[in-house]
Amino acid sequence: MRVSFFGAAGEVTGSCTLVETGDLRFLVDCGMFQGGGEARLKNQRALDFGFDVREIDFVLLTHAHIDHSGLLPRLAVLGFRGPIYATPATIDLLEVLLLDSAHIQEKESEWQLRHQRRSGKNGRSVHPPLYTVAQAQATLPLLRPATYGKLIHPAESIQVCFHDAGHILGSAWLEVTVSGEGKPRKLVFSGDLGMRDRPVLNDPEPVVPTADVLLIESTYGDRLHRPLQETEDEIVAAFGRTQACHGNLIIPSFAVGRTQEIIYILADLVRRERLAPLKVYVDSPMANEATRITLAHPALLDDETHELTAWLREHPNRMKVEFVADVEASRALNEVRSGAVIISASGMCEAGRIKYHLRENLPRSECSVLIAGFQAAGTLGRRLVDGARLVHIFGEAVPVRARIYTVGGLSAHADQAGLIAWLKGFHAPPRHTFVVHGEAAAAAHFAEAVGVELGWHEVSVPQQGDSVNL
Ligand SMILES: [Zn+2]
Repeated sequence: MRVSFFGAAGEVTGSCTLVETGDLRFLVDCGMFQGGGEARLKNQRALDFGFDVREIDFVLLTHAHIDHSGLLPRLAVLGFRGPIYATPATIDLLEVLLLDSAHIQEKESEWQLRHQRRSGKNGRSVHPPLYTVAQAQATLPLLRPATYGKLIHPAESIQVCFHDAGHILGSAWLEVTVSGEGKPRKLVFSGDLGMRDRPVLNDPEPVVPTADVLLIESTYGDRLHRPLQETEDEIVAAFGRTQACHGNLIIPSFAVGRTQEIIYILADLVRRERLAPLKVYVDSPMANEATRITLAHPALLDDETHELTAWLREHPNRMKVEFVADVEASRALNEVRSGAVIISASGMCEAGRIKYHLRENLPRSECSVLIAGFQAAGTLGRRLVDGARLVHIFGEAVPVRARIYTVGGLSAHADQAGLIAWLKGFHAPPRHTFVVHGEAAAAAHFAEAVGVELGWHEVSVPQQGDSVNL
């Protein structure tokens, strides 16, 4: 058996692992590299993947995030026609996320072309989209549902079980059994693992007792998250100040996962009377879709979420959530001067309706912005977190007079303690452990922690392009 690492090796995006066994070849995830110009180059370099995609028999997909799924349409463009196995909720999310990813790429290419033509160039150096909306759409029929806990057999010698990873809706860690010559071998792919005891989703399912090969993520492998209590205190403080000043509270949020988590936390704070009755506007078509898909999969939500939803139905006046659909209604929200709580995407303030809300509310000292997600270097969200006094939105200079609150306790990923606790489910160390999906320092730190805390010896951090015979 041979395992090759084509992405998320020494970094957090571009997840793509190739497994070759006997005459079978399959991929686990096929993600896009994300985060600025360097990622764009890597995606371009991944245009042909470095392997013959027509020889791939099938793909196993852990979850819908674009850094795990975003190059699937590219695979199809190059001639892959095999099945892509994913949970039903992941499939629902992909219908939204892959088309959006294609749409963004088409727009970017058009913009570059216009820009180059305007500066007298022929536009030949413009990168075409990795795939178009039509090509993303053509990928969707390849998706095959795999339910948590039910065995599937993508090939005679391969048996796969998807288990809830508690990271985003439909996310899974994978248990893959390869039989053939000799003793069957077990491979475990963690995908991205969620935090235990966090709202909305079920906790990650405990791992199986043994494995021959383990790939474990390490996004936060070198740190611990702040307790949820602190996050709640900060949210209450932001609300108090905004209300006292008669301003608006603007919350930039990722559409999938974080928006639903924030709605939960606000409703819970209202129920516990830490916040006064509230009306919240969710102003993002994608967040609206993601919330609809979340509610369409009640079995994936934890007991606390079911209780809270029931409470909300019984107390319709305590918290109202209005999903803003059309552009006119969104514009009307820009006119509201006080008392509005607006959750909008994109999460890093780089695109979407959030930019309009920031343009209107940042210059007003009575308003507040609550930042509850990771902000990558170079984004508008990061500049706000870093205390910029002036930012540019749609080419306009916008002074920052609103109060910026940064709350650090929300994360869709387990921290170091969470990852180690999950690994303790193994009764014996896997024969080979590969630490992936973490920045080089985080991955190295985590590999060391696994050695120290669990006494495992066969732990390594693969590099992009590494192949290992096992
Ligand atoms: Zn993820």
